[in-house]
Amino acid sequence: DIRASQSGKDRDSDFEKALRPSEFDSFSGQDKIIENLRVFVAAARMRGESLDHVLLHGPPGLGKTTLSQIVANELGVGIKITSGPVLDKPGDLAGILTSLEENDVLFIDEIHRLSPIVEEYLYSAMEDFRIDIMIDKGPGARSVQLSLSPFTLIGATTRSGLLTSPLRARFGINCHLEYYDHEVLERIVLRSARLLGVKCTAEAAHEIALRSRGTPRIANALLRRVRDFAQVKGSGVVEPEIARYALEALNIDRYGLDEIDNKILTTIITKFKGGPVGLTTIATALGEDPGTIEEVYEPFLIKEGFIKRTPRGREVTELAWIHLGHSPEGRGM
Ligand code: ADP
Repeated sequence: DIRASQSGKDRDSDFEKALRPSEFDSFSGQDKIIENLRVFVAAARMRGESLDHVLLHGPPGLGKTTLSQIVANELGVGIKITSGPVLDKPGDLAGILTSLEENDVLFIDEIHRLSPIVEEYLYSAMEDFRIDIMIDKGPGARSVQLSLSPFTLIGATTRSGLLTSPLRARFGINCHLEYYDHEVLERIVLRSARLLGVKCTAEAAHEIALRSRGTPRIANALLRRVRDFAQVKGSGVVEPEIARYALEALNIDRYGLDEIDNKILTTIITKFKGGPVGLTTIATALGEDPGTIEEVYEPFLIKEGFIKRTPRGREVTELAWIHLGHSPEGRGM
């Protein structure tokens, strides 16, 4: 039922919006990025200029959209939000560019999915705040140059490896978002609980943080589910016991790994005896794209100590063997 799932999606996004920090001060983690952006934003404000174009890259749910809204807010300018696949034709891009006011932010999510023609168009817009548009068709067709207000493009991508080098070169500021540590996620869970008016103990927040795959979006979604269990099966307070009970009931991996993470580990163990095995070989066995595994999945598995990169390829660690109920001694059998 499309309508039901649509309204479910809307509820999710309302929920996300409600928990979205709107200033640098309420954004936790990514300290280095925040520190730098504060300086660049302050400098742009002092000069009354648009901020340099910003590229944000990193896995989904780590705060790219949130950061772009914070930057616009801290700059005191408006923001227009769109995405690579939505900007189908140059005319779509021209429409949105000409609607920007001075120093506004244009946020393009999934910027690696822009079509080559639209991307080409973006170059002169980014560089000279100018675009050429074609008017008329056939023999009368001619191109007219339009001046744009200075603006800041913030591009977000989960797959920075897919960006063309001319596009990449046009971003003055380049930020790579990292997975969040448990302590930071714990703070985010406690903040969200406060905003939702839910009582949540630090220990329960810690339990949720551990299982959130280093990702604030997942942490918030788990908090919401655990809150349901606390209300129906518990005292209404999110306590460690009810958190553990809920997370078990929801079948959330105790390390926060998702289905694809587990599939990657299982494949390396069962098909390649734990490795070392090349990335492309793993990807083929899984029917996944190697770039997605490398940029979206593997960084978390490496960070949490499930996979090692070796000169001969990827190898699972003892932790992965134990986690999946195999004994590392069983290798080679
Ligand atoms: P992305 O654009 O990278 O997929 P979003 O910006 O949409 O991620 O973030 C997903 C959700 O996680 C948002 O609702 C936001 O509230 C929350 N979130 C992300 N980063 C943080 C952070 N550093 N502090 C608090 N909440 C965050």
